[in-house]
Formats: sequence, C-alpha cells, structure tokens
Amino acid sequence: MIVSVASGKGGTGKTTVAASLATIWDGPVLGVDLDVEEPNLHLFLQPAIAGSETAYMTVPVVDEAKCTYCGACADICQFAAINVMGQVILTFPEMCHGCGGCMAVCPEKAISPGQRELGEISWGQAGKVGFLAGRLRVGEAMSPPLMRLVKARLDQMLANGEDAIIDAPPGVSCPAVNAVMDSDVILLVTEPTPFGVYDFQLAWEAFTPLGKPMGAVVNRAGLGNDAIYRFCQEKGLPILAEIPYDRAIAEAYSRGRIIADLSPEFRETFVTLRDKIRDLAKPSRSQEAAHA
Ligand code: SF4
Ligand code: SF4
Repeated sequence: MIVSVASGKGGTGKTTVAASLATIWDGPVLGVDLDVEEPNLHLFLQPAIAGSETAYMTVPVVDEAKCTYCGACADICQFAAINVMGQVILTFPEMCHGCGGCMAVCPEKAISPGQRELGEISWGQAGKVGFLAGRLRVGEAMSPPLMRLVKARLDQMLANGEDAIIDAPPGVSCPAVNAVMDSDVILLVTEPTPFGVYDFQLAWEAFTPLGKPMGAVVNRAGLGNDAIYRFCQEKGLPILAEIPYDRAIAEAYSRGRIIADLSPEFRETFVTLRDKIRDLAKPSRSQEAAHA
C-alpha cells in the first residue's frame, strides 16, 4: 500500500505526520521524501544513508554537421527548447522536458541524447523504516522529472512487499499531483485556521478527480474555528485523526523529534490513524482485485 501525505500549503505538519506514521507502521515500510524542492523527512527519521546517485534527464544535443536546418525539431517541441533561425540551431536544456520528440522526428538523425543534471536520489535505513528521497539541484526549475525517477526506484524497492509513506510536496500544482497520483490513499493534513481551510479546499478540489480514497488529519486541533469540520462533513471526507495544539508537540517539532515517540497517547493516535488508513484503502484494493 502507498500512502501519500499531502497538504494544500506548507507548514501544516505534513512531514511530522508522515514521519510518525512510518515510525509506528507494523510491517516493512519505506519513508519516501518526494518533496524534492525542500526535502526534510530525513530531519525526523535520521536515516543512515546507504547510497546515493546523481539523477539526470535526457536533453537533445545537435550535431550541426548533419543538420539541414529543416525545423522539424522546433516544430514538434511544445516548450520552445529547441529553435532554428536560418542557419542557426539553438537548444535550451533548462526548458527541455525530455520528451524525445525532437530526436524522433529529425530526418538526419542529427540529434543525440545528452544529459541535464536534475539532482540527487539517496536511500538508506532509519531503524526498521527504509528511506528514499530526492533532492532537486539548486537552480533546477522542474521537479516532476526527478520525482518520476524517485518513484521508479520506489517501484523497484516495493517489489519486496513493503508499504510506503510518501511525504508529498505541499500545494496543488503539478509536483503535488504527480506525487500522489499512484497512491492507494491520500491523507490531507491541515490546520483549522482560515489559511489552512482555504488551501485544504483547493487540495480537495485538485485531488478528488484522481478518484483515490482520501481522509483528513487536523493538526493543531483547537486553533481557529470549525470551518474545516463543516467542510469535511459537507464533502463526506472522513477526519481520520486530530493532533492537538500542544506546546510539547511544538517543542518536539523544533527539535526534529517524532510526535508518535512523545507519549503513549500520541503513539496511539497514529496507530489508530494507521488502522483507519487501512480501512479506507480496502474498497479501492478490492476493486482493483475485481478488475484484475
Ligand atoms: S530536425 Fe534535425 S535536421 Fe531538422 S533542424 Fe532539427 S536537428 Fe536539424
Ligand atoms: S526532448 Fe522534447 S522538450 Fe526537449 S527539446 Fe526535444 S522536443 Fe523539446
């Protein structure tokens, strides 16, 4: 089972929830940081890193000796990453999405695959929790290509039967949707403040078309008002856990400690959340089995 922990905005406690869930999970589990622009799951899990590799994507390299400047490559590129102006051909690797279209259409076979560095993928172990993370290169604008490579490695690692808890990027743009789209369950973490509720609604709208089982976790419960509860009731979205607005939790967060380790009560909150996640996943998994 893959569980994505997402949020409509940063700072809701998404990563602390993901770290606590991974820690109390009662079977083989991987903690996966797909928030590649600002990865910080490692700050909570403190994994021993076993290996890492630089991640690249394929970009075009033109052999001008073969090029006839026909313009077919520029015509097919949807991102203006390759341009032909008279007898000059220009490539813009930073704008390339790596689709390979230009290489496929070049009649002279003048374009070969080059590489653009995306960032780094690392893996390791934090106690009984496996760890996998991507970190985007500083200055790299596109995170989905790196996320796809992290997810490809995750697929290999899940061949051993582990579950995965994904710390997804905050927000509702392409990286966030990319992170959660292959999940069995999406957890939306929010806080009951006006900002939290507004962004939570956006996240619900963005992720609902994916058709995944979804549940909410209300962090800092006791703050703000009851708008989040009314919204969830109206939409039929189950609230799977509430984490209180508590000084001990805030202090633990500031020290990179895991909430579930703070007390038996907090641990029980996450054990109950885990069980509710499994219940939520059951219909979709049986539906998949029926379609298999
Ligand atoms: S498609 Fe090939 S031959 Fe035509 S302009 Fe592009 S690189 Fe040159
Ligand atoms: S690989 Fe795709 S995005 Fe990149 S330059 Fe070629 S056509 Fe454009």
